[in-house]
Amino acid sequence: MSTTTFTHEFDTVSFQGKVSFSTGIFIDGKFSAGAKNTTIDVINPTNGKLIASIAEGTPADVDRAVQVARRTLELSWGLNVPGHQRGLLLHRLADLLEKHADEFAALEALDNGKTVFWAKVADIAISVDVLRYYAGWADKIHGQVIETSEDKLAYTRHEPFGVVGQIIPWNMPLMMMAWKIAPALATGNTIVLKPSEFTPLSALRMCALINEAGFPPGTVNVVVGYGNTVGRAMSEHMGIDKIAFTGSTLVGRKIMEAAAKSNLKNVTLELGGKSPNIVMNDADLEAAVNWASHGVFWNQGQICCAGSRIYVQSGIYDQFLRAFTKKVLSLKVGDPFAMESYQGPQVSQIHYDRIMGYIESGKQQGATVHLGGERYGTEGLWIQPTIFTDTTPDMRIVREEIFGPVSVVIKFEDEEDVVRQANDTLYGLAAAVFTKDITRGIQVAHKLQAGTVWVNCINQVHANVPFGGYKQSGVGRELGEYALSNYTNVKAVHVNLGHVI
Ligand code: NAD
Repeated sequence: MSTTTFTHEFDTVSFQGKVSFSTGIFIDGKFSAGAKNTTIDVINPTNGKLIASIAEGTPADVDRAVQVARRTLELSWGLNVPGHQRGLLLHRLADLLEKHADEFAALEALDNGKTVFWAKVADIAISVDVLRYYAGWADKIHGQVIETSEDKLAYTRHEPFGVVGQIIPWNMPLMMMAWKIAPALATGNTIVLKPSEFTPLSALRMCALINEAGFPPGTVNVVVGYGNTVGRAMSEHMGIDKIAFTGSTLVGRKIMEAAAKSNLKNVTLELGGKSPNIVMNDADLEAAVNWASHGVFWNQGQICCAGSRIYVQSGIYDQFLRAFTKKVLSLKVGDPFAMESYQGPQVSQIHYDRIMGYIESGKQQGATVHLGGERYGTEGLWIQPTIFTDTTPDMRIVREEIFGPVSVVIKFEDEEDVVRQANDTLYGLAAAVFTKDITRGIQVAHKLQAGTVWVNCINQVHANVPFGGYKQSGVGRELGEYALSNYTNVKAVHVNLGHVI
């Protein structure tokens, strides 16, 4: 067994010293090389330099991980471990993550390019909350007793699905892992998880904490690899009972297809979005501007629920655009390790090129670049926060998910018109509405076809509130009590108390 380790020194006030951990694939509580003994290069988006070469997983490694996960489920996890014990382990994991918050924030900044400040206050803090929230649920998973007749009894049990496959993206590497593993473990499943090949470091570091917390080896297995090898093998695998995926709609469709063609495994999908943010004439302008800016430019715009289509009512359109421009100009673009930075580099060259391609398409299709629209600086993967105006509904920058720091600001006249435009999309992940008239805010919220609607705020998620998409933004819900049903099978037990046939 060969393992790769790396040690990296960080020159930042928020991260003191070095971290060293194994970057092998993680099966049965141990790190090892993949079956092919090949590696994946992990690149720092800030400077294009190699951070580490990590073990590349293969379909053979997925097979091994599934076998281990099955054995663990049958022998030392699942229904063998009482809920309160599973909860205790999740609490320990949350405590360990909290203790290492600075280190994880630095790893996310290094690997993804997100700012260390926001990694800590958002990604890491929410991950800790989510682990604790589901720790609390672990001993409260129960079914119902259902009356049938006097001489019969029926009740339901909420049993774990079994071996669960989880595939996650690169935009919030640790947080997506926490959203996935916490409810699955609380409900007694074992896991084979594939992080994104672009950002595997925090998931691998978590593996060490999973061991330290005391989870039985094989409860969580992590196989880093490419989507079309490891991801595909997981979606097609006959030994995986359920697959939970977060990523693009394109890949979500492939996963559902693979599930249908293999063992009809249960599938939940958290997919892309093109979320509308509606600002009414009577909105608190300053608040709406601040939220709108955060709604689309936070995390370099790499946010599934980004409020990237900003609809502003005609009475305040000019005023809004002036104030929004000023606000966006004040956002500090720079080194993700500098505490004052708001926007770091995009995650990868491929993604940078994709975003620049969208900006180019906006220009070519006749939209006005009101602000930005170019590379930021002379090198690296930074993009100027960009505002387009004078768009038409058919333009790609209005219809397609860009997943970068690019917004379109669109004028509308009345409520009916904006609701129609907001809903004119194949997505339905999220939406926001800004108005001082709360009744109107709620009425509009009810008309929007989205899994989440924020009134007078945007991009807010809480461990106890469900999150997921309408239409082609997803199937199922994460977070809250709702996510428990993603990971449990309902069994009805009928008991005869003396009924004679
Ligand atoms: P992606 O779909 O390209 O990749 C996501 C994951 O799927 C990665 O681990 C990738 O390796 C894997 N994958 C790729 N091809 C696969 C295949 N054929 N079979 C199985 N797995 C495969 O997405 P991304 O670029 O990593 O992330 C960006 C996308 O994720 C955006 O569309 C964004 O909206 C979405 N996202 C959604 C949510 C949500 O909660 N709805 C949250 C974060 C990101």
